[in-house]
Amino acid sequence: MRIDLHTHSRVSDGTDSPTELMRAAREAGLDVIALTDHDTSAGWAEAVPAARRYGVELVRGMEISTEHAGRGVHLLAYLPDPTYPPLVEELARILEGRDRRLPAMIERLRRLGVEITEDDVHAVSGDAAASGRPHVADALVAKGVVASRDEAFETYLSAGRPGYVSRYAAPLVDTIETVVAAGGVAVIAHPWGRSSRQWPGPVELEAFVAAGLSGLEVDHQDHSPRSRDRLRALARDFDLVVTGASDYHGAGKVGHDLGVNTTDEAEYHRLLERAAASAAVSRRHPPTVVKGQA
Ligand code: AMP
Ligand code: ZN
Ligand code: FE
Ligand code: FE
Repeated sequence: MRIDLHTHSRVSDGTDSPTELMRAAREAGLDVIALTDHDTSAGWAEAVPAARRYGVELVRGMEISTEHAGRGVHLLAYLPDPTYPPLVEELARILEGRDRRLPAMIERLRRLGVEITEDDVHAVSGDAAASGRPHVADALVAKGVVASRDEAFETYLSAGRPGYVSRYAAPLVDTIETVVAAGGVAVIAHPWGRSSRQWPGPVELEAFVAAGLSGLEVDHQDHSPRSRDRLRALARDFDLVVTGASDYHGAGKVGHDLGVNTTDEAEYHRLLERAAASAAVSRRHPPTVVKGQA
């Protein structure tokens, strides 16, 4: 079984529609795919019939923007009840934070002499639930200011670059608890990705596990082989599920093709067992896995 548990559609900052994503999953030979758009379940409704049509098993999820001790952490939430009020409210705060950041980023870029408007960004963000830095990057590419998303991040948008503006992120420990109370399971995405320097470590993980964390995304393109080995050992120590995934963004992120990293079948089943346990105690009606029927 080929299982990819972290992908994005156009509903956040990917470039495929949810339907195109399900077709691409089939073409990539995946048996299971999780749709995990940033901070929203808005793509689920379209993805469900498409997964059935293309015969792929679909796990409905999302990647929530959180922070802990002043650092950003991306939290993958699988199979939470998307109508659970505390989750709805937290996602609304995050999306509102994104909407508020956009004019501030535009203002900074204009001060740097880059002529760009909110309309330019909305022209490229299309179906997205809210705009993010990748959409600003795409607008800069469309205007010919830079050649690629990567160049836009390196020149303007990454933390520490002159066009960077921070935004609201949800408290991580509370959000883990919210996901579990919504009947879902929580997995930390690319825990040591980009500039994390092996943070979070055992001390932090102990607190996250106490809050109900179920897994770590170990096999991710942002992790070196050494980091993967160490994270796998930490996952073993804390009895966490080990996942692997592409973090596919369509044409929006190079080197993240569907299935480039995958999740072991036994680990996937452990994750689903934890989801079932969480659903049972939640007294909510969380979604279940959509079985493809090709
Ligand atoms: P935001 O959530 O709006 O702050 O944007 C962060 C998103 O930008 C992340 O989820 C990544 O998918 C994407 N991203 C970060 N760095 C880069 C980069 N160098 N090139 C392309 N996409 C990036
Ligand atoms: Zn993204
Ligand atoms: Fe992420
Ligand atoms: Fe992601």
